[in-house]
Amino acid sequence: MPDKNEIEAIKEKLLDSCCNFQKECCQQIEQNTMEQHPHIAILCCSDSRVPPELIFKKEIGEIFDVRVAGNVAIDTSVIFSLEYAVEHLDVDVLMILGHTGCGAVSSAEDLIGDENPILKEIRSSFSLNDDHYISNIVRQMEMLPRRSDVICQALEKESLTLLGALYHIEDGRVEFIDRDLD
Ligand SMILES: [Zn+2]
Repeated sequence: MPDKNEIEAIKEKLLDSCCNFQKECCQQIEQNTMEQHPHIAILCCSDSRVPPELIFKKEIGEIFDVRVAGNVAIDTSVIFSLEYAVEHLDVDVLMILGHTGCGAVSSAEDLIGDENPILKEIRSSFSLNDDHYISNIVRQMEMLPRRSDVICQALEKESLTLLGALYHIEDGRVEFIDRDLD
């Protein structure tokens, strides 16, 4: 555990970086102070290598992110957050963004953490595709409208489009994933 001085150094570095951010992005910050109008909501893994704003070259106010290990929407805080974007921010697109090299997917494959609800959820997708990075995305695309009336209704009204995408951590590529609607 870092000692008091080390913690102070960490805080100082963070504030330094934030000062640079304020200088570089002052216009973006100003333009988005009063309200937000993102056009896309993304459910993405928490993995530090998968930051949606950097991947899609977006700025402040452009993406509504919900990030959780394994990009699964199984609890109310995740689902309510996505519903907020659909209902109150009127996003046009909801994207489930998975990624190669996902630790949650490989832990689910290795049968680690049998009681972990995230890993259980990922494991239950495995029959959908041999590639489990893809099966996990497809399952979330299938389950999200079943778990959320708000999202289901927006899709039925065609005011919302649901997309699945796989980010390749090896080369920064994004591949869209099709799922068969039943
Ligand atoms: Zn991941």
